[in-house]
Amino acid sequence: MQDKPVQETNLPRVTWEDIGDLEEAKQKIRELVELPLKHPELFRHLGIEPPKGVLLIGPPGTGKTLLAKAVANEADAYFVSINGPEIVSKYYGESEARLREIFDEAKRNAPAIIFIDEIDSIAPKREEVTGEVEKRIVAQLLTLMDGLQERGQVVVIGATNRPDAVDPALRRPGRFDREINIGMPDKRARLDILSIHTRGVPLCTPDDVSNCKGDNCPCKRGDEVDLEKIADMTHGYTGADIAALVKEAAMTRLRKFLNQNGKAIDLDRPIPTDMLNMIKVTMQD
Ligand code: ATP
Repeated sequence: MQDKPVQETNLPRVTWEDIGDLEEAKQKIRELVELPLKHPELFRHLGIEPPKGVLLIGPPGTGKTLLAKAVANEADAYFVSINGPEIVSKYYGESEARLREIFDEAKRNAPAIIFIDEIDSIAPKREEVTGEVEKRIVAQLLTLMDGLQERGQVVVIGATNRPDAVDPALRRPGRFDREINIGMPDKRARLDILSIHTRGVPLCTPDDVSNCKGDNCPCKRGDEVDLEKIADMTHGYTGADIAALVKEAAMTRLRKFLNQNGKAIDLDRPIPTDMLNMIKVTMQD
């Protein structure tokens, strides 16, 4: 097998197991992106063209970037990511050149995935765009998409929360002609996401409470974490909100621990395991 050092270092480490729920979206993106990248011979055999572009549509924080990274990882594809607003502002005046560079980089490292987050900001409807520069960026993106060879082993994944704001020319056949909708997580999905984000977190369990004798317990009765209850209480939370909630709960617990035990900690030595075992997250603070 050929060595691809650049690809190795650039590969996102997200796997399907890191993504809660979104079963339909995962299945679609595997079929539209992973399968053609891994087995172009299947599509050649059938005489069909896999998509050059796929649009992920959904509110911020619902896992669009995660899906793009996971599919790149699982397909062993080179991953290059563009942030729409950033390429317009940071590279103002050079955005088209930057886009060309990114497409070249992807082609050189194919199989590759180009991820464009907030694509509506670089490809808004041209009739609504007043600036010449912005118009040229949309035109450049269209040209680059058209220039991608069929079965060229480069797929562009765009993400947006405002599909209606995207230039319709971009959604024509041969460009972003496939769409995957991602909604807000329901209770079952939130529970799935909570389970993923608490995988490595030492949560207070009923066992911790019942096994604990004396005053020095990491958790007391009532501190036990019930993920179902939290899933129920977090209506309206996105996956990103849930990830932030878990992180905040862990940080709150850490602060409390430091307040109580700060003096007992020797900054020059690792914290002893029995002391670490006293830190249990309650998710209630
Ligand atoms: P944006 O439009 O703001 O870029 P996005 O839809 O691309 O948002 P992500 O960047 O994929 O959202 O998600 C942000 C973070 O939220 C992830 O890194 C992850 O921690 C968490 N997250 C979101 N959705 C999920 C999910 N379905 N399963 C697990 N974690 C999730």
